[in-house]
Amino acid sequence: MKNATLNQLSNADLHCHSKVSDGTLEPEALAARAKANGVSLWALTDHDEVGGQQRAMDAALALGLPYLTGVEVSVSFAGRVVHIVGLGFDHRNEALVAGLRATRGGREQRARDMAAGLAQVGIKGAYEGALKYVGNPELISRTHFARFLVEAGHCGDISEVFRRYLTEGKPGYVEHRWARLGDAMRWILEAGGQAVIAHPARYSFTPTEEYALITEFIGHGGRGVEVVTGSHSDADAAKYTETAIEFNLLASRGSDFHSPEESRTDLGQMKDLSGRLSPIWQLLETRIHWPPASTP
Ligand code: AMP
Ligand code: MN
Ligand code: MN
Ligand code: MN
Repeated sequence: MKNATLNQLSNADLHCHSKVSDGTLEPEALAARAKANGVSLWALTDHDEVGGQQRAMDAALALGLPYLTGVEVSVSFAGRVVHIVGLGFDHRNEALVAGLRATRGGREQRARDMAAGLAQVGIKGAYEGALKYVGNPELISRTHFARFLVEAGHCGDISEVFRRYLTEGKPGYVEHRWARLGDAMRWILEAGGQAVIAHPARYSFTPTEEYALITEFIGHGGRGVEVVTGSHSDADAAKYTETAIEFNLLASRGSDFHSPEESRTDLGQMKDLSGRLSPIWQLLETRIHWPPASTP
């Protein structure tokens, strides 16, 4: 595999989640699933946490699957939450680890406040209910609440829970202060990685706000934007193909897979990036962990 060229890596999947954040599979199971689905370069990108990186990397390399370290950092920007994917950093970098720990820090109190809001509309026991789904006690997420609300029969599926209870203005939504954009970028870049704006179509920014995000991101040293991702339609991918070209950004590609039961897009099952784009992994060539030459 060592002499595999970057062109052979087109089925890169550089965005997904394990039980270390709000996914339902262990890192080893994700590695096996990525391999089985024909992924050629993989990154596990748990929310605000690199605790699964060594396991994911070891499992991937044992399967002959090239690996990039990854993380998805929650950032507050212009009154919204923006996700920045970091790739190819040193996952033991102390400033990165400390910054992510601080970013996770408020999640437990936030979860208690979310449960209090849900109790006010008659949904009891949501904190304890969500905890049953949590794999990492420092990472209670809205997704875990959503799983509990479906299990308890309050909603038919997870997207209904978000719509009715967990988005801005709804009873279980709690404002939260996440990382600053500049801090998240510094943690990733100083640990040797590259930063990517995750699923840009998801933010419903005005064109002015989006321009501000992209230019500030570039000002902080950002080089990539996710163009093909599980929550983008084909039209979204076409739109952000043009954005990437306009701003001279490299493109990333990832399923944002969370769970076999819940995710619409499985690992490695996305459309290809347009040939007009330069993939972000071109910048990360020296950061890729290659399997031992003996592995098929
Ligand atoms: P949190 O970091 O706790 O705010 O949770 C954010 C996570 O919730 C995201 O990473 C997604 O996995 C999930 N999520 C957000 N919005 C939706 C939605 N509309 N439908 C399903 N899952 C969602
Ligand atoms: Mn998630
Ligand atoms: Mn995200
Ligand atoms: Mn994600």
